Amino acid sequence: MALMITAACTACDACEPVCPNKAISVGSPIYVIDALTCTECVGADDEPQCKLVCPQDCIEQNPDFVESRDELMQKYEALHG
Ligand code: SF4
Ligand code: SF4
Repeated sequence: MALMITAACTACDACEPVCPNKAISVGSPIYVIDALTCTECVGADDEPQCKLVCPQDCIEQNPDFVESRDELMQKYEALHG
């Protein structure tokens, strides 16, 4: 399941540099996670790195992108060759 950023985001920029898939971009007014690129960090790290650094705790599961761990790993491998 991809993650999503909610309205509590303060655009602090802590999350964008830590994403292994470059799935986070600057939006207006809040940052945005590309659900087609976010793997919940599966393939790169043990847990979602953006959630670890977010001071607002405003990164949640995206209910529109339900994926299993295997599917997330396939997504990661497709992105990184
Ligand atoms: Fe990027 Fe991982 Fe956050 Fe998804 S969970 S947006 S892959 S840092
Ligand atoms: Fe927004 Fe959290 Fe990312 Fe900061 S770390 S830009 S508050 S989602």
